[in-house]
Order: sequence, then structure tokens, then C-alpha cells
Amino acid sequence: MKALLCANGTLALQECEKPERRGNEVLIRVSRAGICSTDLEIVRGYVPGFSGVLGHEFFGHVEEADDASLIGKRVTAEINCACGKCDYCNKGMQRHCPRRTVIGIVNRNGAFAEYIAVPRENTIVIPDELPECSAILIEPLAAAMEVLEQITIGKEQSVLLVGDGRLAQLIGRVLLSEGISLTVAGKHQSKLDLLKRQGARTFLPDRFSPSPFDIVIEASGKPEGFVRALACVKPRGTIVLKSTYAGGFQFNPSSVVVNEISLVGSRCGKFSEAIGFLQKYKPDFSYMISARYPFSQALEAFEKAKGKGVLKVVLEME
Ligand SMILES: [Zn+2]
Ligand SMILES: [Zn+2]
Repeated sequence: MKALLCANGTLALQECEKPERRGNEVLIRVSRAGICSTDLEIVRGYVPGFSGVLGHEFFGHVEEADDASLIGKRVTAEINCACGKCDYCNKGMQRHCPRRTVIGIVNRNGAFAEYIAVPRENTIVIPDELPECSAILIEPLAAAMEVLEQITIGKEQSVLLVGDGRLAQLIGRVLLSEGISLTVAGKHQSKLDLLKRQGARTFLPDRFSPSPFDIVIEASGKPEGFVRALACVKPRGTIVLKSTYAGGFQFNPSSVVVNEISLVGSRCGKFSEAIGFLQKYKPDFSYMISARYPFSQALEAFEKAKGKGVLKVVLEME
């Protein structure tokens, strides 16, 4: 099969062995896979020494499984593959299992390939009524929804979202759908306009005067976004961090201490929540898909995904 291999920060489309199922794994023929900022960060070195197949936002059809009822079903997979035995797993915190592998990110090959094998317990059947542009966004939408799993946002609270990219768009969509009044500070007028149309107040950095907010969600992917979040949060306020940065950066934590700020790290969410959201609100996410490429042009697709103003770039395997 063909797979997009990443080694030492270099991508190459290569012929390699089709994965074999181990244990209770399910073999999926990948149909579509989305390129995420995390993929771009991994190529830049966010996971030191990563070598293998990237890709964790995808769907495909089951080709082999012990459970015959799964064969042919359109599925995706929760990305954290847990051991199922440790204290964290026993407490339902599989996403924090210290022995976990993560599809396309940590010690497990991802979905930028014609086939992928994933554990049965990670496999999620996608309801037939969900269109392709929603199905491809289940993983990042779950990550966006994790914010509301972690903190309660009252209708009277002021919320600032820093960033207007792929993940920020989904976070904005989720918060606005829940009736939360939202301000967004971003860098791209066209991307801000997408959120404005849904009811957000939006600002470019040069027009923005940071009146303090109760809650600031940092999803810009850039260290400057964190600096901005710190400058915009009220004393005793909360900053939710959604960005992972390839490099470290210096910051003085004094203002966190003096202003008694709560910092909440936020990562993946539950796919069932994301599917529930898609079924309840039926959003038309076609505006989130900036470009589609046949898998043979995966390298061009990666270049495209790096471009300004670009949201989701989708690889088409079949
Ligand atoms: Zn992602
Ligand atoms: Zn575990």
C-alpha cells in the first residue's frame, strides 16, 4: 500500500507493507484524512524523533474485523489507544493512560495511508446521515468540545477566543451554538468573518484593546497567542490552552501568580460528544474544507495546508 511516511521532519510518499491486525484490531481502508496543525507541528519537530505514518483525522470502511457486523461500516477511531489495565484506564481516563499510543502521533502509525489498523474499542461507527465534511471533522470537533467538558461557562461570563484557524473555528462554532457570547481575536479577516457570520464579535490585533475577559481560550498555535491570553484575562480568570507549540518559549509566570489565574490544559475530547453535536445542530461544515487532493499529491497538500487563510485540507485515498 501507499503511505506518507515522516522521518526526521521529512515527508515521503512510499510503498510499504499493509498493516496486519494484532489482537482485536480492526483493519480500515482509509477513504479521507484531514491535515491538522498537529501534523504540521510534528513535521517541524513537536514530537521529537517521530518516525512513521502521520494522520489522526480520518474515516474509512472496515475491511477486516473479528466482529462481522463491522465489515463495510464507515468508521473513524478515537486516537488514544490505552492499555486498559492501569489506574488511569480503570478510572475512565484512557486518554491519559501512561502506556497509551496515539494514532499518527505517538508510537502508532496514522491514517495518511491506504490502510490503518486500530483497536476495536477505539473504532467508532459514523452515522450514515453525517455528510463527508462533518465526518472528517469528528476528531478536531471532539477536541473543541473538550473545553466545555473541562470548564463551565456561564451565559453572563465574557469569553475571548485567541486564534481563527482550524481548531479555533470549531471551538467558536461550539461555543456560539451553546449560546455563549464570544469575542474572537485573530489575524485573518476572512477567517474572522466566518465566525462573525455565526454571531461572534471579531477583531484583528491592531484594532483590539484588551478589556479583561473572565475566560480566554488560546487556540492560535503561536506563543504570542499565550502572551495575548495572559494580557486579556481578568484577575481570578481562566485561560484554556488548546495549542501545542513545536518550540518552547520564555514567559514570566508572575502575572499568573499575582492575578491568581487558572491555567487549564485541554487536548482531545470524546468522539461521541462530537457526533452528538453534529446530529443535534447539523452544521454545514463545507466552509471548513479549503482543498481536496488525491493521495498521490499528499506532499502538495501539506504545502497547501501551511498556507495563510487555509482551513482543512483533505486527502482523498479512494
Ligand atoms: Zn488534529
Ligand atoms: Zn492504561
